[in-house]
Order: sequence, then structure tokens, then C-alpha cells
Amino acid sequence: MARFSCAVPGQELRGPIFARELEFRGPRIDPALMNARMPVLFIGHGSPMNAIEDNPWRRAWRRLAETQPRPRAVLCVSAHWETRDVAITASPHPETIHDFYGFPRELFAVAYPAPGDPELAQDIARRIGDAAIPVHLDPRRGLDHGAWSVLCAMYPDADVPVLQLGLAAHRPGTWHYGFAKRVAFLREKGVLVMGSGNIVHNLPLLGRYWNAPPPDWVPRFRDRVNALIAARDHAALCEWRSLGPDAALAVPTPEHYLPLLYALALQRDDDIVETFNDEVFATLSMTSLSIGWRA
Ligand code: ZN
Repeated sequence: MARFSCAVPGQELRGPIFARELEFRGPRIDPALMNARMPVLFIGHGSPMNAIEDNPWRRAWRRLAETQPRPRAVLCVSAHWETRDVAITASPHPETIHDFYGFPRELFAVAYPAPGDPELAQDIARRIGDAAIPVHLDPRRGLDHGAWSVLCAMYPDADVPVLQLGLAAHRPGTWHYGFAKRVAFLREKGVLVMGSGNIVHNLPLLGRYWNAPPPDWVPRFRDRVNALIAARDHAALCEWRSLGPDAALAVPTPEHYLPLLYALALQRDDDIVETFNDEVFATLSMTSLSIGWRA
């Protein structure tokens, strides 16, 4: 295994810029900041290749980890773990799930051996579940690429425990927004809550625009959502299907959009909201948010 946890066995990941980034070591933040309220993130994760490619999006994820308080754990709400009921990963050593196909072998060789935290999972499940919304612990589930492709850039040593919260994607946006507020207490406990999806995510049309400018509805829907985020109009964002025909094209299925609502639900009145990686390509947007911390 190469020196870094998020690495391809037996080979360097990339060129010199990438290597320099990975060589960053030592405390990244004053330990006193550990007592600060944790920010909340929404990450547009895009292609799994972002796990191993050096590009501005990945570098922005890395910068986040370097400039924000180091969490005691991450709770990721990923587009790639859909569950019927609510579930939380509870394995002490979650495996790296390569939940994609058609990518280079080096991507399948990536391992991200961040530990889990079954005790924390149990504590969260106890606090957010009730008779109406039972929350199950899943000791077998590993980490999907919505989590690890981003976290391997943020914490390449895989030394921050990672939990995932399953996404009951069949439920409406307002349900997710309301339920997400139950994990708000984690911000005071040093846990980084991170939604991972894409606001605009139309895979069926991706190939048609791969080598062409994005169709008009992509930046238009991105701009519309950004304006609603800036206006803090979360009610409209929860009812995205009412946002017109662009919404139907941009969000043909809800699983990549819903993680955004988890991040917005944890926004406090005094939180700064910073947008970054606010780019579109083909039929995807990479728009990401840092809430409650200046990135
Ligand atoms: Zn995805």
C-alpha cells in the first residue's frame, strides 16, 4: 500500500502538484477551534474520478479541510445510499464501496480505510429516531463514493471517523428538511455534517453534452437554486418540483438533490453561506456550499 490512505497501491497518484498537496502534514487548525460550532457542507461530488484526478474541485475540497475545524467525525448524507427507512452505518471498519462501473482500474484500487464509530452511530440513532421514524444501525454497510471520493481529498490520511446516514429518497423534500434538523446537535459535538450529491444531475443526457456546451437549462437551474439559497428561501427549495420545467430536467431523480436539503436545514440565522466550485459541465453542476464557516 502506498504511503497515503487514499492511494492506488504501488504507484503515485498524480504529478508533482498533487504529490505536494498530499505531503501537507501537521495540525491544520488551532485546537481551540475544536470548541467552535462545526460548519455544514454540501458538496457537488460529480464524477468518482475526482477521487484521483488533480483538478480545482478536488483542490477546493482539500482547502476546506485545511481551513475549517478538524472534526471528531463526519456524518455524510450521500446520494449513493438510498434506504427505505433511515439507517446509519455502524461498522467499526467500513469498507470502501466501488459503486460504479466503466471507470479505470486505478479508481477501483482506491481504498479509503477511515474508521467508523459505532458508539457515535448508536448515540445519533437514539437521539434522532423515535417510534414514528425508527433509525436502524447498519453494521455491514461501507462507504460509497459520494463519501469517500470527497473525503479522500479532505482527509487523505483517513484518520477521521466517517458515518453515513441513509437517504430515504422516496420521501418528499419537506420531510428530509424537517428530519435533518434532528442532527443539528452534531454541530456542537465536533461532527461535520456533509451532504454529497449534485444540484443539477441528469445522467441520461450527460453523453449528449459531454463535448458540447451545457444546455441552457443547466446554468439557468443552477442560478435559480443559487438565488433561492442566497434568499434563504428553503421552502421553495424543498418544493423544487414546483420550480418549473428546468427542475424536471435538472433533477430527474431526487437522490442527488436531497443532500442539499440536509445542509440547508442545519443553517442558522447567523451562518455565513459560501458557494464554491460553482461550475457546470454537460448536465451536471458542481456547486457546493460551506455553511457557517468562511472557506
Ligand atoms: Zn453521484
